[in-house]
Amino acid sequence: MATYLKRASEGGTGRARRDDTVGKIVADVIAEIRKRGDEAVREYSEKFDNWSPESFRLSAAEIERIVSGVPAQVIDDILAVQRRVRTFAQHQKESLTDFEVETEPGVFLGQKHIPVGRAGAYVPGGRYPLVASAHMTVVTAKVAGVEHVTACTPPIRGEIPAATVAAMHLAGADEIFLLGGTQAVAAMAVGTETIGKVDMLAGPGNAYVAEAKRQLFGEVGIDLFAGPTETLVVADDEADPFVVAVDLLSQAEHGPDSPAVLVTTSRPLAERVMSLVEEILVEMPTADFAAPAWRDHGEVVVTETVEEAFAVADSYASEHVQILTREPRLALQKMRNFGALFLGEGTCVSYGDKVIGTNHTLPTRGAARYTGGLWVGKYLKTVTYQEVANRQASATLGELCGRAARIEQFEGHARSGDVRAWKYSGAELPW
Ligand code: NAD
Repeated sequence: MATYLKRASEGGTGRARRDDTVGKIVADVIAEIRKRGDEAVREYSEKFDNWSPESFRLSAAEIERIVSGVPAQVIDDILAVQRRVRTFAQHQKESLTDFEVETEPGVFLGQKHIPVGRAGAYVPGGRYPLVASAHMTVVTAKVAGVEHVTACTPPIRGEIPAATVAAMHLAGADEIFLLGGTQAVAAMAVGTETIGKVDMLAGPGNAYVAEAKRQLFGEVGIDLFAGPTETLVVADDEADPFVVAVDLLSQAEHGPDSPAVLVTTSRPLAERVMSLVEEILVEMPTADFAAPAWRDHGEVVVTETVEEAFAVADSYASEHVQILTREPRLALQKMRNFGALFLGEGTCVSYGDKVIGTNHTLPTRGAARYTGGLWVGKYLKTVTYQEVANRQASATLGELCGRAARIEQFEGHARSGDVRAWKYSGAELPW
């Protein structure tokens, strides 16, 4: 039986919470941008970000100037991470196969992958310049073969996030706008006088960004719901409580709405981690976010067995699941619901977030029950085609189609089949 030593505060679930006021604000912003285009974009950028430059779009000269001011080591590190992200994305792309099969003589059925034409990459940056999100969204789109990538990121406290702009540019973004939140997402989705409409939106963000993508889904494609970060650690009695505490807080610092959950088979470890977390928070520079995240959303659960710990972890369907047990790879066999798994003490979620090469744009609020994270395949449409290149095969299918369509009372469909059966095999037209 699982025992909770710490529960999220009232209404908390250990998953990022939904705030009803967000939906209303986002709906209003989308409606106004739909109606008034750039004028409304500017109004909301002023209101939410205190940001109203002459143009939100960076010119080639501005990009060059910004990138040339970024320290060489930062550029080298951006390139080093982008190489890793690109390599993994290229392997993912190779795993997708186009094929054509002759299912019966003269009947050819095929599948192929076509990249979306225009993608909008949202790179968050309200609280921190999330440079790595540029690699995740833009590099991956380019590996998929997306022709035009529009990338948006907000100013950070009124400043241009130079390293993020460099990362977007080096990743291959075709246009860069300094624009954040709902106004960026809505402008890319519906199109304005200066921001071209995209076919699909990708990228993580805060509750406003995630909600905007949710509301606009259908009108544009979206990658997934990648809202406020969540993390969950599964640990046994051999795990190092200091590592567990540090790693829980590494994700809690994303924002005050970022849940961190510990599921462990060891009560002494759980108690030690809880006291270490409090000690670390005292001196942690990002405690303003991490402390409320832990206190209001953090949970600690003690289970009797590792199997039970995996089952509890599955019920959270957390974005990140870190396994600090004797046999971490057991989780690969036993677990079903996670955005990404981090196996063993040598691995940490921060590697996934910042450097290792897998994509850090991952499902939140339980979406890991039905999807993985952003990957090359999200930018590709898996489409099918068919050709019946044999008259006899078409006649046979025509007769079957005539009968099958009439079961559904679709006379028009039936006649398309009848006409081929009549033309290719001399069958009588039944009408
Ligand atoms: P952000 O870029 O997502 O959001 C900043 C924008 O939010 C601002 O530009 C502003 O326009 C808008 N905003 C802020 N307050 C508002 C208000 N009261 N009303 C309307 N709009 C408002 O940056 P952030 O806020 O720093 O958040 C980044 C988020 O991305 C974090 O929650 C982090 O956990 C999340 N994240 C998720 C993943 C994932 O894969 N799930 C990965 C990385 C980051």
